[in-house]
Amino acid sequence: LRYIWYRSEISGTPYSLLLVHASPTENMSFYFKHLGVPVIISFGIVLWASVWLAAILAKLYQRLDKQKKLMEHDALHDPLTELPNRTLLADRLAHAIKEVKCDGDDCLAVCMLDLNRFKEVNDALGHEYGDKLLIEVSKRIKEIIREADTVARVGGDEFAIILRHADVNKATNIAERISKSLKSEFVIDNERFHISGSLGISLFPDHSINPENLMKYADMTMYHVKNLNYEFAIYNPDQENKRSNTLSLFTDLVEAIKNNEFEIYYQPKLDLELNRITGLESLLRWNHPTQGLISPDVFIPLAEQTGLIRDISKWVLRKAMLDQSSLKSKGIDLTVAINLSAHDLDDYSICDYIESITKKLSSDPEKIVLEITESAMMLNLSTTDKILSKLNNDGYIISIDDFGTGYSSLSNLQKMHIKEIKIDRSFVSDMDCNENNARIVQGTIGLAHDLGINVVAEGVESDTVIELLQELDCNMIQGYEICEPVPLEKLILRYWNQSELMKVSNGL
Ligand code: C2E
Ligand code: CA
Ligand code: CA
Repeated sequence: LRYIWYRSEISGTPYSLLLVHASPTENMSFYFKHLGVPVIISFGIVLWASVWLAAILAKLYQRLDKQKKLMEHDALHDPLTELPNRTLLADRLAHAIKEVKCDGDDCLAVCMLDLNRFKEVNDALGHEYGDKLLIEVSKRIKEIIREADTVARVGGDEFAIILRHADVNKATNIAERISKSLKSEFVIDNERFHISGSLGISLFPDHSINPENLMKYADMTMYHVKNLNYEFAIYNPDQENKRSNTLSLFTDLVEAIKNNEFEIYYQPKLDLELNRITGLESLLRWNHPTQGLISPDVFIPLAEQTGLIRDISKWVLRKAMLDQSSLKSKGIDLTVAINLSAHDLDDYSICDYIESITKKLSSDPEKIVLEITESAMMLNLSTTDKILSKLNNDGYIISIDDFGTGYSSLSNLQKMHIKEIKIDRSFVSDMDCNENNARIVQGTIGLAHDLGINVVAEGVESDTVIELLQELDCNMIQGYEICEPVPLEKLILRYWNQSELMKVSNGL
């Protein structure tokens, strides 16, 4: 044994006291005895704390994981219908295409669907009904397509569908069924709706192997279907080329006025009684920077469809009236006829516009002829009526163009104080060899004169026709036999031979 000892002096004696103590053995029980309990307690606490921490962390992780999954779901799905959104659709389409490629001669179809009349339902019954309708629509589509297919909501009332392993027949069949299903009545909260859909379809690999192109082609076809009031159609590359040409022409048309690409050609009107030119018709030409001269038969309908016609008509009115006024100041006093479109006649402000130019140029309204086609006149009768009678009261000459191609009666025109009609060239140009047309022209001239309306015959292409029209007492003639439409400078040189007048239109 080891000992611990300690010596202490006993004061006042020579002796010391020696204290001896056996040293304790250094085994585990010693430490255990002295440290065991606190260690066990601390260990227990730590263990307990860690278990709790682990449990809390696990719960937190679970919650975060759930939240992440929810966020992922939200990012890839439409919240209303729970259908995949555009992002997930693109992903699924890319996957489907990859699978198809591996399968060799497999195919797939992409359909774009847009609902018709959805806006009406939404506006009439509120967004709540609109939302319910969209959910119903998504259910109906899901019932028709297969498990492997995908239907996604890609816009307000737009859906996209990927049909796996679908060729043209399969795609057509499904499009037909979707279209039929959408047409059957919807009943939501006791309200009954009738809607329909427009479907455009593109096929892999026939139309493209690129997912973006497939979507684009299906989308383009869908708009085409909508415009034509069809139910569905398969993408047709030829048609789309034509449409994209029109589209690019439209873009160019927007710039045409700004870029000064329009030019007016004038065609003279010959007064048969006076045997001289008393008027000009302004006929618009478009000098396209790359396509050259474009006929109004091509760009006027495009301008009418897009509303650009109003600006174009104003440009023509301004330029033609300016030309008329300049000619007059050089001693050539003619009427100038301007073609107005149906779209110009549904806005009353056109009257103010014409009057303001007349005032500025101090023109005589009786020298301004406004040509309106028979069909344009019938389109929006109440406004047209008001505009025409205002212009008529102010002294302008209203002339009914292409007369005979519509259904207006001369007596009605008389009631509207119309002063001039232009018999359509389809009756005039062959009246020397087409008896029927000759009779129509004769009857029209006779009746018009009885009602005090002047007659212009357009499309005069031969001497014999001129003679016939002279016999029928037609007031004025216009056509290639007299002169084709030409730029003003050319016309002046040809008829008035005054070279200094060429400055007329240049200086405007
Ligand atoms: P429109 O008003 O009936 O004009 C007469 C058209 O017949 C002109 O065609 C003219 O070139 C053509 N023409 C003239 N004489 C003859 C002939 O003897 N035989 C034949 N077959 N045709 C003849 P253009 O210039 O191509 O104009 C076509 C149409 O475009 C015009 O028919 C008019 O409806 C429209 N248009 C032209 N300029 C304007 C314009 O400034 N505004 C509006 N809104 N429409 C215009
Ligand atoms: Ca005309
Ligand atoms: Ca005409």
